[in-house]
Amino acid sequence: MRILLVEDDKHLGESLRRALVLAQYACDWVNDGEQVLSVLNSTPFDLLVMDIGLPGRSGLEILREIRTQHIHIPVLLLTARDTVEDKVDGLDSGADDYLTKPFDLDELHARIRVLLRRYSVLDQNELLCGGLRLDCKVREVFQDGELVDLTATETAILELLIRNCGHYVSTQRLEDSIYSWGREVESNTVQVYISRLRKRFGNEMIENKRGVGYRIQH
Ligand code: CA
Repeated sequence: MRILLVEDDKHLGESLRRALVLAQYACDWVNDGEQVLSVLNSTPFDLLVMDIGLPGRSGLEILREIRTQHIHIPVLLLTARDTVEDKVDGLDSGADDYLTKPFDLDELHARIRVLLRRYSVLDQNELLCGGLRLDCKVREVFQDGELVDLTATETAILELLIRNCGHYVSTQRLEDSIYSWGREVESNTVQVYISRLRKRFGNEMIENKRGVGYRIQH
């Protein structure tokens, strides 16, 4: 597993890199946010661990660019701030998880293991969540073995929820998944599709937490 570490603090960057290498990961460390996109575009990584507070472009700006370019990589943000707004900002920008400094190395390792496990299902042909099965090859959804008739956009939204099974997905990320289908998105588009999906699968299937997003439970 190869991890890209982005941290401008030399002391912290060096000790994190050493800890990750000791844990048997291949780790490349850059201390400049400007390099991140070109490095990600030229080298395959399994995970990005990125500080938010970087000189020049912030980690959040870089993260939005990564998601805009549809670079598919789990992202763990490191933040010195610990407010609800910062967490929501981070998740809205496409982060999968975040750690507030100072943190324990054991917790860093645990979060990394969870993210790598969660993303490893992405290479499977079938995804399972909450009684639903998505056949990724033919892009068909089954509920209790029965094929469900969905539009391409409904399937795209459902796929993102299934891929993040048990975890909230922000409205912004759901919107982005529709943008990739090349359509104009109205401000309430995600809500419209969610309510259609709820009609098909039942209201309790897709949970909503205000200001956080939507999820399907395991
Ligand atoms: Ca920093």
